[in-house]
Amino acid sequence: MRTIGIIGGGQLGRMLAMAAARLGFRTIILEPQVDCPAAQVASSQIVAAYDDETALAQLAASCDVVTYEFENVPVAAAELLVRSRPVYPPPKALEISQDRVTEKSFLNDCGIETARFHAIDSQEQLEQALSAFSGQGVLKTRRLGYDGKGQRVFRSASDNPAGAYAALGSVPLILESLVSFEREISIIAARATDGAIVCFDPAENIHRNGILHTSTVPASVGEATVEKARAAAGLILEALSYVGVIGVEFFVLADGTPIVNEIAPRVHNSGHWTEAACVVSQFEQHIRAVTGLPLGNAARHSDCVMQNLIGGDIEQVPAWLEKPDVLVHLYGKSEARAGRKMGHVTELT
Ligand code: AMP
Repeated sequence: MRTIGIIGGGQLGRMLAMAAARLGFRTIILEPQVDCPAAQVASSQIVAAYDDETALAQLAASCDVVTYEFENVPVAAAELLVRSRPVYPPPKALEISQDRVTEKSFLNDCGIETARFHAIDSQEQLEQALSAFSGQGVLKTRRLGYDGKGQRVFRSASDNPAGAYAALGSVPLILESLVSFEREISIIAARATDGAIVCFDPAENIHRNGILHTSTVPASVGEATVEKARAAAGLILEALSYVGVIGVEFFVLADGTPIVNEIAPRVHNSGHWTEAACVVSQFEQHIRAVTGLPLGNAARHSDCVMQNLIGGDIEQVPAWLEKPDVLVHLYGKSEARAGRKMGHVTELT
């Protein structure tokens, strides 16, 4: 095992490539954008679309195992690759996480609680489903939603749904029940090729404008909540015969019950804190898992707060660098557009 192929060239791919290099592996990035964050630190890049069959064949021929850094990798590409190389996490995890209805049905089949939901394919179905939820709910696109994009919240029966189906693009939608949660947490867990499972401590996440703002560890939840969240993550990993790191996001209800919002079959923004507060980060854990190495210890040695640097937050870097116990991590993106993740900082507390 010498070379890892990574589909996707963003900051998650960059941090995976850095962790891989530290363990002595080479990485090849498949990504259409030249000079992407991952390619800046990887051994090489194949500049092509994710579904370009020639490029996929080239990737398979030049690496020992393939992984990915985002969940919208075309399933057909992963299925093509798996004929000649191991693909971790398994393509099934992509298929499930790409569609919110499939994802929630899978979770419910595993005995894991989620928001209640209806698949929506017309304005009429939306109105029926909304009245079944007493006029409240969160309407989302089934596919390709991220960072709160492609969503509409209905808070009361007076919130008029007229035109909402068309406004979200007349594409397949899901209406979820509006969950009244106290906080949001996530668990980053990993499963190795031998079936061993390791979970990092849950982080408590605050979003701003639909984008993760901070992750704080420890989360202010009781041990029973942590145990239930870990158990849910374990069930998901087992059900998928998963290999690699997964991010599982939860809503925590007032009675402490964690219910799953969504899963991400990859390293996750809410796990960036692990690079500062654990000996083995989520990135190294993923590389260990997909290369068949033993998983590392996920215990944290420090409490911490991770904060994303979004758009103009990049201006704050000099001030962060002045502080003790802060790890600054920048992604090598040249243009600081609004809403763009430019880096993150983790402060030990
Ligand atoms: P998502 O794109 O599913 O991660 O949703 C983005 C954010 O919207 C979540 O982090 C929650 O803060 C909120 N949200 C999503 N779904 C629901 C729901 N069913 N009930 C209440 N809030 C939600």
